[in-house]
Amino acid sequence: MSTRAVHAGEAPPEGGAPVVTPITQSSTFYTDDDPAAAVLYTRYGNNPNHEVLSGKVAAMEGTESAIVVGSGMAAAAMSLLSLLTTGDHVVASASLYGGTVRLLKYDLPRLGIDTTFVEGGRWTSVMRKRTRVILVEVPSNPTLRVIDLAPLAKIARERGVVLMVDATFATPVNYRPIEHGADVVYHSATKYLGGHSDVVAGAVAGPASVVDEVRDRMKSFGASLDPHATWLLERGMKTLAVRVERQNATALALARWLEDSVEGLKRVIYPGLPSHPDHALASGVMDGFGGMLSVVVQGGDRRARKVMERFRLIRVAPSLGGVESLASMPRHTSHADTSAEERRALGIDPGFIRLSIGIEDEADLRADLEQALAAA
Ligand SMILES: *Cc1c(COP(=O)(O)O)cnc(C)c1O
Repeated sequence: MSTRAVHAGEAPPEGGAPVVTPITQSSTFYTDDDPAAAVLYTRYGNNPNHEVLSGKVAAMEGTESAIVVGSGMAAAAMSLLSLLTTGDHVVASASLYGGTVRLLKYDLPRLGIDTTFVEGGRWTSVMRKRTRVILVEVPSNPTLRVIDLAPLAKIARERGVVLMVDATFATPVNYRPIEHGADVVYHSATKYLGGHSDVVAGAVAGPASVVDEVRDRMKSFGASLDPHATWLLERGMKTLAVRVERQNATALALARWLEDSVEGLKRVIYPGLPSHPDHALASGVMDGFGGMLSVVVQGGDRRARKVMERFRLIRVAPSLGGVESLASMPRHTSHADTSAEERRALGIDPGFIRLSIGIEDEADLRADLEQALAAA
């Protein structure tokens, strides 16, 4: 995976050529003498930076094709608009990224596309004749649930439904949904793929027949990625495997320590802990448990806010997947729009703090967590 991250998609070595893909900061390209030749235009997603990065993503996800787009939400929206038309129906997991929920709840219904959100496992009972897509996140935000894709893939195949997975939290280093029966995978590349909190981007990987449709939607809706952002993303992706392996190791060590020896916590939520409801499944299908780790502190949201104020090294900000550790309270960020009741149903209890573990030294992160929890 690390070899693919460094080399896949790139031009073969040639004397005098740059080792790094140059930024082709050009909107348009000279046409050759053949009037029928394909038009190269950056909004079309065929800038050389796009081509290289798409090849890298496809190689890492193990798909026939891939495309990079302007954001994670563009990846979700362009994919859904490619697979659905008026009258179609989506079955989606209830624990999806807030922006995706808004897209499904408020935007797609304007086009006559409805979604049924499913909690737990009652997928088949809500399927309709016009169900075209099943959409899930693995692992989910912020309770890090890992859905077993194999039975879902079977249902999808039997009914000719597309199984689509947002694998932002997993990255292809830890989990490749295609290997477990998914048809289409997408990412907010803003997070781990970029890895440095300096670029907003998205990626979609799947069969060429789907990716070509996504490209057409991207052209029409103007959701292409700027060449400089594409270059930054390629630079970030080269270190994806080493970053994620480090984040896996630190998050696992911190999760064990928090659960075993830290007072004042109600729950430590991490798929690598035997106490997590999906630990057995995650151990079977994932190569690493990821860098996301959640805790529920005793004392509810009041104490959680105090803990957040006391962090010195861990930064308080939404988003995730960067080299710096970030903390957020989902009730104020990703789930600000949901009611207390809905949050409880999703497992977001009072006192819930979500941590995105960076690549700092584990001892420093441990010391920061220790002092913040003690002081609060
Ligand atoms: C951030 C995020 C998105 C949206 O991505 P943007 O790049 O911010 O548009 C979608 N899904 C998940 C799981 C995310 O974390």
